[in-house]
Amino acid sequence: MQITLVHGDITEQSVDAVVNAANSSLLGGGGVDGAIHRRGGPEILAECRLLRASRYGKGLPTGEAVATTAGRLPARWVIHTVGPVHSRTEDRSGLLASCYRASLRVADELGARSVAFPAVSTGVYGWPMDDAARISLETVRQADTAVEDIRFVLFDSAAYAVFEARL
Ligand code: ADP
Repeated sequence: MQITLVHGDITEQSVDAVVNAANSSLLGGGGVDGAIHRRGGPEILAECRLLRASRYGKGLPTGEAVATTAGRLPARWVIHTVGPVHSRTEDRSGLLASCYRASLRVADELGARSVAFPAVSTGVYGWPMDDAARISLETVRQADTAVEDIRFVLFDSAAYAVFEARL
């Protein structure tokens, strides 16, 4: 498995699967989620609605992952995962690690060989970038997966520098 860092926009990545930092409603939001739906088009949201109606009536639980088409993105699938909101009083790092493990499990089920991850939970959900970098890099390194190419796509140069230092 090769882990690489990219400074850029996750919606521009040509990979088998792009991971979305979704919220449990699966019906869109800001940040990565907004960018993926804007760029990927309505097909992704239509599939998310079907998933809500069929398997996830109460929403996708935190730490889990599910795939849809990637619409107009230069990828085959979007894997939606719900990161935990960062808490100062409770250790939720297991849930953040679970996002990466669950996403790679779904990628394996799909037969994806290349996967692009955003820094899940580090936006609206408030996770400190350095801790998120540590958890996500450790988790994917230890994952038992057939995915060969894992890219962390960092939107700004500060996030990129933090991941680079950790890697
Ligand atoms: P969460 O709700 O899980 O915190 P966000 O989407 O708010 O998710 O943010 C997750 C991270 O993704 C943040 O570090 C944010 O700067 C970054 N980000 C936002 N848009 C993009 C994008 N288009 N490509 C890659 N990363 C992005």
